[in-house]
Amino acid sequence: MSPTFRARPRLAGLAASGPEEIADGVWIVRGGLPKTMNVYLVRDGNGVLLFDAGIVQMTGAVAIAAAKLGGLTRIVLGHGHADHRGVAPGLAPVPVYCHPDEVADAEGDGGAHYFDLSTLDPHGRFLLGTLLPIWDGGPVQIAGTVSEGDDVAGFEVVHLPGHAPGLIGLFRRSDGVALVSDCFYTTDPQTGLHGHARVPHRAFNQDTEQARASIRKLAALKPSVAWAGHADPVTGDVAAKLEQAAATT
Ligand SMILES: [Zn+2]
Ligand SMILES: [Zn+2]
Repeated sequence: MSPTFRARPRLAGLAASGPEEIADGVWIVRGGLPKTMNVYLVRDGNGVLLFDAGIVQMTGAVAIAAAKLGGLTRIVLGHGHADHRGVAPGLAPVPVYCHPDEVADAEGDGGAHYFDLSTLDPHGRFLLGTLLPIWDGGPVQIAGTVSEGDDVAGFEVVHLPGHAPGLIGLFRRSDGVALVSDCFYTTDPQTGLHGHARVPHRAFNQDTEQARASIRKLAALKPSVAWAGHADPVTGDVAAKLEQAAATT
């Protein structure tokens, strides 16, 4: 049991919900206050793997959810930002994987070296400047990498760079389920208001135009549903909604 797990057991129930099954063999645990941080558990043999590692405050709840589903086999990072690697260090020695282009940031500053908080309004700058270090679990030791086209528990790895250089999604062709980390947002990070799909805020993007192109790449796969790292999924005509996000936001 990690120090993080021991230090926060009373918060486990408050800081996260779930697991809630959202597709065949896929569960979500929602964390944060309000609960806009999404992590996913995916059936992986007799246990489950974790895709996207949320914030450190979710560590206890994720450990409990994974134990209920047979135990954690591995962690796959959608990308290495503070709010997406949070629980990984506290769940050691579970091995952690990411895209090759994300290794340095996952093991380093979580991508903070290209963040530009000056593009946020003063309130958002203060809020997120304060929260990001609180959410972060710190640098993660990467055990191995996964790249475009690799199979991960029946899902295909899709490289969706831009928000982060090694951002990946998982796409299952049999039913069109896509888990895509911060490929797009369905919430405003400064206000917490939920809404339509949009390009992630440029304050946190390594390359916003590339992020826009990656939303189009995801749309071309015609997912039946696209679940991101925060807030609500995109459902219905997912491809059209993603094309609109790329074109108008
Ligand atoms: Zn991010
Ligand atoms: Zn995020």
